[in-house]
Amino acid sequence: MADRVLLLEDDETLRGQLLTLLSDRGYIVDGYADGASGLDRALEGHFDIGVIDLGLPKKPGLEVVKALRAAGIDVPLLILTARTDWSDKVAGLDAGADDYLAKPFHLEELIARVNALLRRARGEVRSSLSLGSLEINLREQIAYLEGQAMPLTTYEYKLLHFLMMNAGQTLSKSDLADYLYDLDGDRDSNVIEVLMGRLRKKLAGASGAPAIETLRGRGYRLCPSEG
Ligand code: CA
Repeated sequence: MADRVLLLEDDETLRGQLLTLLSDRGYIVDGYADGASGLDRALEGHFDIGVIDLGLPKKPGLEVVKALRAAGIDVPLLILTARTDWSDKVAGLDAGADDYLAKPFHLEELIARVNALLRRARGEVRSSLSLGSLEINLREQIAYLEGQAMPLTTYEYKLLHFLMMNAGQTLSKSDLADYLYDLDGDRDSNVIEVLMGRLRKKLAGASGAPAIETLRGRGYRLCPSEG
C-alpha cells in the first residue's frame, strides 16, 4: 500500500512542487498551508511520515511536532528549516523530529530523506558497512579494521562513515564540510585536510584497508585496496 505523507508547508510554490513530486513517486500526499489545520488532520492519524515546515502560520511547526509527540503519534517527522537558523534545527530535533532539511534544498534530497526515514521506521536498516578489511558497525558507531576497533574521534568517525556511505564516489570538500558541520557553522576546510590526513594514517599499513585518494581540485574518494 502506498505510504501517506502529511505535508505542512505554507510556501505555495514549494508545496505544489513537493505534492507533484511525491505523488509521482507513488506517495499519497495531504498538503496543508498552516499549522493549525495540518495538526487537526495529523491528530486523526493515518499517515506514515510528516514533512513539516517550522515557519508556518497559525501554529508554528515546532508546536505541531510537540503536539504530535504528546499525542503519542510516533511516525517519522522531517522538519524543514531556514538554512541560517541552526538553533531551530536543534529545537525541532529536541521536540521529537527525526531529521531536518535546511532550505533551500534539492527536491531529490527531500525524497531521499523521506525514503530513508520510512525504511528506518520499518526496521529495514543496514547495521554495518564494509569495504575490504574496514567495517563500520552503525549501531555501535565503531569502525573495525582487520577486526580491531579503531580509535577515532567523533569527527573522524563521522567523516569515515560518510566516505563509506559514498565509497567510490568523489566527494568535494564542500560536500564533506556540509555533512560534518551542519549543526555548528565552523566550516574551515583546512580541518577536512587535517582529518583526512589522520584517517589515512590510521588506515595505512592494515592489509585490505581501503585508501583515501585525493583528486586534486575535486575532492576525495574512498577506494578498495589494490592488493
Ligand atoms: Ca514557511
